[in-house]
Amino acid sequence: MADDDLARLAALVRTIPDFPQPGIQFRDITTLIADPHGFALATDLLAIRAARYRPDILVAVEARGFIFAAAMARVMGLGVVLARKPGKLPGAAIGVDYALEYGSDRLEMHEGMLSAGQRTVLVDDLLATGGTLLAAAELVGRTGAIAAAALCVIDLPDLGGAKRLADAGVPVETLIAFA
Ligand code: AMP
Repeated sequence: MADDDLARLAALVRTIPDFPQPGIQFRDITTLIADPHGFALATDLLAIRAARYRPDILVAVEARGFIFAAAMARVMGLGVVLARKPGKLPGAAIGVDYALEYGSDRLEMHEGMLSAGQRTVLVDDLLATGGTLLAAAELVGRTGAIAAAALCVIDLPDLGGAKRLADAGVPVETLIAFA
């Protein structure tokens, strides 16, 4: 992967200061996914990296993770399981509460979507504290499936998410970082 590819991706991410609250530098991927070459590049690079973990299925984190996971799944010939915010799933679900860089939240997954021993790769747009992906990994673990890795477009390394996930046995791969 060429460095200028990654620089191109980074340049497509828009930074919005003080959203959703003062002090947060929001890294907005809507500008990246609106660019056909940037979106294809991000998806292809994520799919190549995800394939190294030999997933049977992808687990997508609401909401921006859905976009990347769906595109990766098409490239990889895999399906997608949704990890959703509370109250969105129509069927019986399992859930995990977690802390965010700003506030707290909960992720839920339909029961019966994963089976014991199945290998999953988790997908989200951005890794901050790692709380969201840890919650997704916990959901996967409760089903007996394996969270083999977590893939994101963006890492905020100052917030230590990659180490938290690695300590929990989930390696993280990201394409670009913002300090
Ligand atoms: P965390 O659980 O702290 O790793 O936060 C990751 C989740 O929150 C992802 O789903 C991101 O979309 C969102 N998020 C957290 N911080 C930011 C940020 N600075 N810019 C954009 N999205 C963020």
